[in-house]
Order: sequence, then structure tokens, then C-alpha cells
Amino acid sequence: MKIGIIICNRYKSCAGGKCFRAMQNREGAFDIYDPAEALEIVGYTSCGGCPGGNVEYTCAEMIKNGAQAIHLATGMVVGYPPCRSVNYFKSFIQEKYKIKVVVGTHPIPQKYYDTHQNLETWRGNMWQELIKPTLADEELRNQYN
Ligand code: SF4
Repeated sequence: MKIGIIICNRYKSCAGGKCFRAMQNREGAFDIYDPAEALEIVGYTSCGGCPGGNVEYTCAEMIKNGAQAIHLATGMVVGYPPCRSVNYFKSFIQEKYKIKVVVGTHPIPQKYYDTHQNLETWRGNMWQELIKPTLADEELRNQYN
């Protein structure tokens, strides 16, 4: 299985450790993949900065390199504020490139979970759907703190 990852540009200097660890362990949004199946990252880049202009083009290269799914990194749903366009990016990529899009990579770190819960950031069905793949349980969220 070949995947591409697009991260929020606010975290562009991130070394990607949590994403790669979660991928290796099939945790967070990667738990949909069979552990017996190899996962290969064929592209890793940022959205290019608000409003996310790189999203329009970067998927084409990932697909050219064999990507079968695009993951929008967890930073897009846990940032302060979360990306307002993440749901649009998901719909756009699916429509334009006819490829599976998964919102999230590694499990939501507990410290972000706590703050967003207190702020009620993810109130409403849309956000509940968006965080579902990376919600995990508290024990796992703590491991990604
Ligand atoms: S908030 Fe959204 S559009 Fe802005 S840099 Fe992050 S992912 Fe890109």
C-alpha cells in the first residue's frame, strides 16, 4: 500500500516522527491497514501555507509515484485553530484525483485533546467525523503526547 501525506504548513519543520511511528505501528489513522501489508510513503509535503495552495498540485505527483491514498496529517485537526479547510481538502482531492483521502495520521496527543475538549473546538458532527480516525483511547493519546 502506497500513501502520500500532506501536513499543515504551520508544522513544516516537523521531523514527522509521530506520523512515521504511527504508520509503523498501525496506530491512529493507520489502523485501517492490515499489519501484514507493507506501507510505503511515496510523498510527504506541506499544504504550502494558508489557504493551502499546494494541495491542488501535490497529489498529482504522489499519484504518479503510486499513491493509493492521501493522508491529511493530524496537525490539521489539532492545530490552534484546526485547519478550516480540511474538510474541503478531503472533498477536493477525492473529486479531482479519485483517490481515497484519510483525515489524520498519528493519534491525537492527549494535551491537544484536553485543550480542544475544553474549548469545545470539535463540537458538531463534521468535526466529530474528522477526528474519528485519530481519536484513539487515552492510553494511546498519552503515548503521543
Ligand atoms: S491551517 Fe490549513 S491551509 Fe493553513 S497552513 Fe494549516 S493545513 Fe494549510
